[in-house]
Amino acid sequence: MLGFWTFLALSVLVELAYWGVTARSDVLMPSVLQLVIMLITQYGLTRLNKTLHEYVMIMSSTLLASVYIFSYDTDYLCFLLLLPILLTIYYLDTRKLLLAAFIALLPLQFYYWAGSALFAHTSPPLHEQLGTTIIFAFVAFISWATIRRGQALIQYSTKIHYTNQDLLVKTVLMDKLIKTDALTELYNHITFHEYLEHLIIQHEANDLSLQLALIDIDNFKLVNDQYGHRAGDAILRRVSEIIRTESGANDVAARYGGEEFAILLTDKMPEQSLALLEKLRVKIAAETHDLLDGKKVTISIGFSRYRPWEGKEVFFARTDAALYMAKKSGKNQIVHADEIDPHSGNAEAASTSA
Ligand code: GH3
Ligand code: MG
Ligand code: MG
Repeated sequence: MLGFWTFLALSVLVELAYWGVTARSDVLMPSVLQLVIMLITQYGLTRLNKTLHEYVMIMSSTLLASVYIFSYDTDYLCFLLLLPILLTIYYLDTRKLLLAAFIALLPLQFYYWAGSALFAHTSPPLHEQLGTTIIFAFVAFISWATIRRGQALIQYSTKIHYTNQDLLVKTVLMDKLIKTDALTELYNHITFHEYLEHLIIQHEANDLSLQLALIDIDNFKLVNDQYGHRAGDAILRRVSEIIRTESGANDVAARYGGEEFAILLTDKMPEQSLALLEKLRVKIAAETHDLLDGKKVTISIGFSRYRPWEGKEVFFARTDAALYMAKKSGKNQIVHADEIDPHSGNAEAASTSA
């Protein structure tokens, strides 16, 4: 818009300068007229609704071109009336194109009809008038086809955009579906093992701290037997929720099996991890469940920290042995694998409460 006005204002200024030099009165009148049209247009643009601005521009530029045509006895100036038609390609709007083509034909035909009578111009012969009109129709048609093609392209790229967005959302959902357990929304068994392998590699490359906790709900079979499978599921969901909220942002919590869970702890010292796990154990043990007639459930936890180069299997087996010890020595407690005496097979609970 600004470019359009600058261009017009410059052309009028050049005309006025030309008038200043030559003092030709036939140059002054059209320039003044054009300036008036431009001022009215600008006033209209500030007063009218934004949706009408483009229509105003089309009409105003047709008027400006008409002033040229009627002011000078030069036939090719008629082609200035094509500019508003071409402008509608920029607007990408066929309705505006129709309007521009229609109102361009009015001054053109009027010029042919009244040019010689009213303005003392020499009107071109009929075949030239016809030829110019056909050129106008042709330019309008090309503009229409260009606009339609532009609209189709926009439609196509919008569709692609939404398809891409749709695919992205679906990929994220699929990814979540593949990685998580449906009942508890924790990571599933496969994903847990993927993370375990990945974190071991990270540990060995960067000396990242890495610990594992294996968690098992105590006497869960009894819950199912006494209160039914649905109540059991609800307890699993609730315990998982607590595990999820209590574990840190850089920890990986997974449902390892039926009522067994695993947490990979990454950015803490073992003492900090043990404190976190203890808090988790206490929180679960403190909660009463309406579905179990106000009874509580407890968990046992086996804990170990990764020993460089021991590998996934040994790391997991040591933690599992700690969990086994936690169960064997009374449940509702944490056993640290380092505390297990390898000779006696006895465990000293790192943190006990039962
Ligand atoms: P322990 O203290 O030694 O762990 O005893 P437990 O009864 O918890 O252990 P056990 O392994 O004998 O029983 C686990 C039970 O968990 C058996 C199974 O019915 C139940 N279970 C496993 N997966 C699900 C599940 O998705 N939903 C429900 N409701 N129960 C499950
Ligand atoms: Mg079990
Ligand atoms: Mg159990």
